[in-house]
Amino acid sequence: MSDRKPIPSDVKRSLRQEAGFGCCKCGRPIIEYHHILPYTEDDPHFRIKDMMCLCPYCHHEATVGAMTMQEQRDLKSNPINIINDRAEGHLKVNQDLLMITLGNNQFLTENAIITVDGNNLIQVKSNENGRLDLSLKLYNEQNDLILEIKDNEWVSGDFIPWDIESSFQILKIRNKKYDIALDINAKEIPLMINGKIWHNQHLIKLTSKGIFFNAKKSSGQISDICFVGSNLELDTNEGVFSICPHPVYNGHSMIPGTIERKIKEGTEAFNRLKKNYIQQNL
Ligand SMILES: [Zn+2]
Repeated sequence: MSDRKPIPSDVKRSLRQEAGFGCCKCGRPIIEYHHILPYTEDDPHFRIKDMMCLCPYCHHEATVGAMTMQEQRDLKSNPINIINDRAEGHLKVNQDLLMITLGNNQFLTENAIITVDGNNLIQVKSNENGRLDLSLKLYNEQNDLILEIKDNEWVSGDFIPWDIESSFQILKIRNKKYDIALDINAKEIPLMINGKIWHNQHLIKLTSKGIFFNAKKSSGQISDICFVGSNLELDTNEGVFSICPHPVYNGHSMIPGTIERKIKEGTEAFNRLKKNYIQQNL
């Protein structure tokens, strides 16, 4: 599996677009790239006409032979998201400026990232067409990596213990065995992400009251802050967090307070950062 040649990114892009950014059968936004004609070393069948997007569940159905080749071709020709007039897929974002709430704290940056002990666990950005790109690494309580998603592609991990529930602008990922979950609600403005994740055997909770994380030396909490032009890194040894300014901007800021203040002043601060960035790069 690991020796396979990588699928060219332009092929992936075309496949996502024709499928309405989801599984051709069920519309889930977390997908894999399925080879309708089986991959071989001699001919990997990287042609758009011989591949399609399927979620891990529907992909399994196709690979165990429970979905005939004709059914696969029919689904590829008529993806459910296109039939349902959801050409932008389930993770459409309705904000010009993407502000993301991660556990009660807002992020205004190119790419909102929660890094834990040097490992990027959650990364969220909007792509050029206003859809959400999610990258995720989820560990269990024993610190085994049990799921990896990269730009909405299910890259590794057994799909069976997971529930991936989605509808328009909503995505919920839950593990049936471990206490791990991530909820994304893109109907909310700012877009809202809450969840329970693990790293280095420490629990990190993103709730409507803040980000809470257990750590060896002391526990940490971050609440009611809008991070502008920066990301967040948690340290589960010391129980502290640090700010990681995004390298494209010349500066960053933190706005505390009510949600109204954070939205207003955060947006103004981010527009100033972007203006400076544009002027410097003229
Ligand atoms: Zn599916």
